[in-house]
Amino acid sequence: MNTLSLNLPTAYISFGSNVGDRLVHINQALQYLSEADGILVTKVSSLYETEPVGYEEQDWFLNGVVAVETGLSPRQLLKVLQQIEKRIGRQQRKRWGPREMDLDLLIFDQRCINTPDLIVPHPEMHQRRFVLIPFAEIAPDTIHPILRQNIRTLLDDLPTEKDVQFFAPPPF
Ligand code: ADP
Ligand code: MG
Repeated sequence: MNTLSLNLPTAYISFGSNVGDRLVHINQALQYLSEADGILVTKVSSLYETEPVGYEEQDWFLNGVVAVETGLSPRQLLKVLQQIEKRIGRQQRKRWGPREMDLDLLIFDQRCINTPDLIVPHPEMHQRRFVLIPFAEIAPDTIHPILRQNIRTLLDDLPTEKDVQFFAPPPF
């Protein structure tokens, strides 16, 4: 990993699980992502155990960020992510609530997209330590195409309200 490059657009995806065997779910998600047509996994962050945001009466998450190169469009990539969530057995629950697997498209190249079912950059990524900490680990110099600041700076500017603890080195 990390030695291949296809010179295709780079996208960053956050993954998270707080239901069932979180490690198994994350390994499955990364495996399925690496097997998907048109997607090359190039970097995987460490895993972090994180305090829930938004709806606090639920178990802590395991979170991380993965970088891919892809010939897919952002919409096609989102579809693949949603298929993987389903395959892992994600049930429909409340927004912000517990989930077997959540895969969010954070950044796709320097593209800005604002449609009803896809917003890129992800509208909350810059406010979430559980996203920025693993993101900064694998790609601190990536520029947020709307805020025009890199990931390291966005993280440094964020208050340390929510707990994010190192859990394990990259699983993949
Ligand atoms: P959340 O991740 O916000 O807790 P869900 O995973 O249930 O919620 O996703 C809700 C909807 O968010 C999806 O149906 C998807 O169409 C939409 N969505 C919009 N932008 C994105 C994005 N960048 N990444 C993932 N989903 C997105
Ligand atoms: Mg989601």
